[in-house]
Amino acid sequence: MITLKNFIFLLVLLAAFGFFTFSVRRTILLLKVGKPENRFDQWDKRIGNVLSVAFGQSKIFRDPVAGPIHAGIFWGFLILLFSVFESIVEGLIPGFRLSFLGPIYHFFAIGGDVMGTAVAVAVLLALYRRFISGPSRLRNIEAKSRKDAALILTWIGGIMLSMFAMNATRIALGDNVDFAPAWRPVSTALSAFFHGGSITRTVHETAWWIHIILVLGFLNALPYSKHFHVLTSIPNTFFSNRGIRPEGNGALKPLDLEDETIERFGAADIEDLTWKQLFDAFTCTECGRCTSSCPANLTGKQLSPKKVIMETRVRLEEKGPLLIAGETSSPVLEKRLVPDFINPEEIWACTTCRACVQECPVMIEHVDEIVEMRRNLVLTEGSFPDELQVLYKNLENNFAPWQFSPADRGKWAEELGIPTLKDLGSADEIDFLFWVGCAGSYDARAVKVSRAFAQVLRRAGIRFAILGSEEKCTGDAARRTGNEYLAQMLARENVETLERYGVTRIVTACPHCFHSLKNEYPQFGGRYEVIHHTTLLRELVEQGILPLVEPVCGKTIFHDSCYLGRYNQIYDAPRIALAETPGVTLDEFPRHGDRAFCCGAGGGRLFLEETVGKRINVERTEEALSVGAETIACACPFCMTMLTDGVVEKGAGDRVQVLDIAEIIFSALRKT
Ligand code: SF4
Ligand code: SF4
Repeated sequence: MITLKNFIFLLVLLAAFGFFTFSVRRTILLLKVGKPENRFDQWDKRIGNVLSVAFGQSKIFRDPVAGPIHAGIFWGFLILLFSVFESIVEGLIPGFRLSFLGPIYHFFAIGGDVMGTAVAVAVLLALYRRFISGPSRLRNIEAKSRKDAALILTWIGGIMLSMFAMNATRIALGDNVDFAPAWRPVSTALSAFFHGGSITRTVHETAWWIHIILVLGFLNALPYSKHFHVLTSIPNTFFSNRGIRPEGNGALKPLDLEDETIERFGAADIEDLTWKQLFDAFTCTECGRCTSSCPANLTGKQLSPKKVIMETRVRLEEKGPLLIAGETSSPVLEKRLVPDFINPEEIWACTTCRACVQECPVMIEHVDEIVEMRRNLVLTEGSFPDELQVLYKNLENNFAPWQFSPADRGKWAEELGIPTLKDLGSADEIDFLFWVGCAGSYDARAVKVSRAFAQVLRRAGIRFAILGSEEKCTGDAARRTGNEYLAQMLARENVETLERYGVTRIVTACPHCFHSLKNEYPQFGGRYEVIHHTTLLRELVEQGILPLVEPVCGKTIFHDSCYLGRYNQIYDAPRIALAETPGVTLDEFPRHGDRAFCCGAGGGRLFLEETVGKRINVERTEEALSVGAETIACACPFCMTMLTDGVVEKGAGDRVQVLDIAEIIFSALRKT
């Protein structure tokens, strides 16, 4: 029979779900302000990401302190959802239990008790970390965020307390007939404080109402707080491209430059971003992991990837409703995300190192958004740092970032007698095309690496050729600084040359060329087997093809290039090649592997002055010096330049050498 309690509860439930439906609809409408993008393909891999990152909490566990706390709260909530469901249905059907689930019900009962306790403890720990002794990224936040965090944590604590009060009084009242007390050990222990009778029943009813209202209130508060991620992080993980498409590895999406209906390229405001990028903004937990790993931020630049994402949400919530309502005149519409919320200086400080993307526990893709903003500044606004004007001019005229003649591109190889594909007529007779890159062709220091690598290839009996004067910059620096037009022009011209000679396999010593050729050239019709020279060197060393006999280097640390490591997950090959080299004692930077600190050159930053804060390369060099390295091993010409400069600046040139792995292996070869 329907009681007054059931009727009132029904009204409360309808109001709660009605408002929640309104909030979900509002969120979907706001997301529709963004551009369309298909993120519904490859469900199997997307579900795999959800299982490992969302349910397995794999990224969260990267933080050994916060990881277990957050995982405790998350898993606890999953189990507690069953208890919440039971309580809600009980409001409609008196005495409702999930006991028809049989033994599974026992599991939920004990799980609810154990996890409820874990969540309560985790909430206390989280409050302690956030307000008393946690890392500064948690404590040094704005007053509103502090209040928000305190409120939500207290709210969760209230849900747990009311649940225990509800269960303990139920046991004291003898209503717990579905299983032995051992299945609810904590609630059973707490039931000792109650002695049945009308007072216990009143406490039980009150606890039930408080529990239900806290749960429904929590659900409805989420879309309006930073804790919206409780609802959005699982779908955001599903929609992430990690391991699904090249974009998940940092390949930039091409702009359709032929589309004459496009009024502005790149992103100046929220409607220029995709719905997924707007969804990222709703998913940010404001944990600060991205900013506390950002090399620009850590060396005193304005850029904070967390702020970029948070400002996107602020702007979306400000402008989105006006766009939905069809407003055309409002001072709000006069503003733009860039520069009114995000300063261009922040945008230009990014090295595109992807440390932020790597660290973000909810799979937010900061770099794509930053590059979209650069695209707008360059292609639509024509507003970019002066140094880029020089870069673009050189790329247009010389097909290289510097003022060298294209005719001299292959000059370094002449004395070694390395053939070009023009000499050979086609790629039929070679094992690899050696893609040399601009630095490897023109930069005096990087040319030494090209020579060393070419001689290693010879000793290994590998047949190879270069393109010489027919090779052009891959367009990486142009693309990452937002000049998509120039980048696409260079890419298409290179693809045309490669196709003409029938190239199928490419090896390169530059991670930027490697990434472009492997992950981005397919966008322009160029599909090749592309390997980085460290991978090939590893194979040659492991197969014993190279006679490595001369001891070299001493204490050596390997600097992970962002475009090799975080972009392409190549961490082992360079280390294995080094470990097999005589004389090398391998050690590590304190920050290495997928947590390696950038050298400061990526994202076109090599060509931009670094005038604010500490120089990133100096920070990285100090890290190398702190472990007493004699050799810093590199696998990237940009890293080599930055770290060589850093060593000179620190006055350590007499005791520390910066070498490419190809040079190290070449010098360890038996002299013929
Ligand atoms: S890519 Fe690197 S430099 Fe750019 S915002 Fe992310 S962490 Fe900072
Ligand atoms: S973007 Fe990701 S890492 Fe950065 S604050 Fe938000 S949730 Fe944390």
